[in-house]
Amino acid sequence: MSKIAIAIHGGAGTILKKDLTPEKEAAYLAALDNALAAGYSVLEKGGSSLDAVEQAVVSLENTPLFNAGKGSVFTKNGTHEMDASIMEGKTKMAGAVSLITGIKNPVSLARLVMEKSEHVFMAGEGALEFAKLHHCKTENSDYFYDEYRFQQWQAIKNADTFQLDHATNKDKKFGTVGAVAIDVNGTIAAATSTGGMTNKKFGRVGDSPMIGAGTYANNQTCGISCTGSGEFFIRGVVAYDVSCLMEYKGLSLQEACDTVIKNRLPKIGGDGGLIGVDKNGNLAFSFNTEGMYRGKKTSNETYVGIYK
Ligand code: ASP
Repeated sequence: MSKIAIAIHGGAGTILKKDLTPEKEAAYLAALDNALAAGYSVLEKGGSSLDAVEQAVVSLENTPLFNAGKGSVFTKNGTHEMDASIMEGKTKMAGAVSLITGIKNPVSLARLVMEKSEHVFMAGEGALEFAKLHHCKTENSDYFYDEYRFQQWQAIKNADTFQLDHATNKDKKFGTVGAVAIDVNGTIAAATSTGGMTNKKFGRVGDSPMIGAGTYANNQTCGISCTGSGEFFIRGVVAYDVSCLMEYKGLSLQEACDTVIKNRLPKIGGDGGLIGVDKNGNLAFSFNTEGMYRGKKTSNETYVGIYK
């Protein structure tokens, strides 16, 4: 029987502690606690890591505090286009969706793609058609509306730029969410979900739905979920790179995560972080930003944190 473990994140970026009221901080920590509990209770009952990461991410998607599901950032056109992915490390099955609107839990749609289709990645209209076929829960645009996100978008919508939800000084809310877990059978899973970048256009897709970039799981090495400047995470093939460093170079999970996040990624200009789990149930956090909303839980440790 393997040691069970789960880690989650709610996005990485530069947050200043002075700007976060005790009430807000408490709300973030409680949301992280809830997501951890949702995932861990699955593992505790002998459930699969796939169910655990899905449940943890659903919990984070359902809170407006994070840039995923409810609370997703606004695109240039004032809409929400969400991306998500999920992967299982035993079979190496994976599912991903991109440019999704109106679906309550994009991570569950990604799982449907993995389990109910012969494909890995579906986007836009086609993905929504598939969602309809499988009776995915939908919500109207009011559900996804969040005043903070709206103000963030207002501040830059006329500019020809896009930004990380956490890159502006005007708002300290962080983004993308993810989870990694290992179950009693030693199966590893990882999932990531995001609204992407504020003011994005032209159908921009980040790393979060890309298997190997934002999400990866392999029972021989690790499970990884990333957050940060997606373009750089794609070019760095970050999640898979961590796995490769473990597989080919024999690095430990933490060494591999730090090598990628603190050395390789900054070299190409990327900022952000990731969470990881290895086949022995070790958990790792690594980020090159001021903080990362994060949490982890094993049989003898529960931790949630924001700052370094
Ligand atoms: N990685 C996400 C993206 O580029 C953003 C984030 O992590 O906040 O879409």
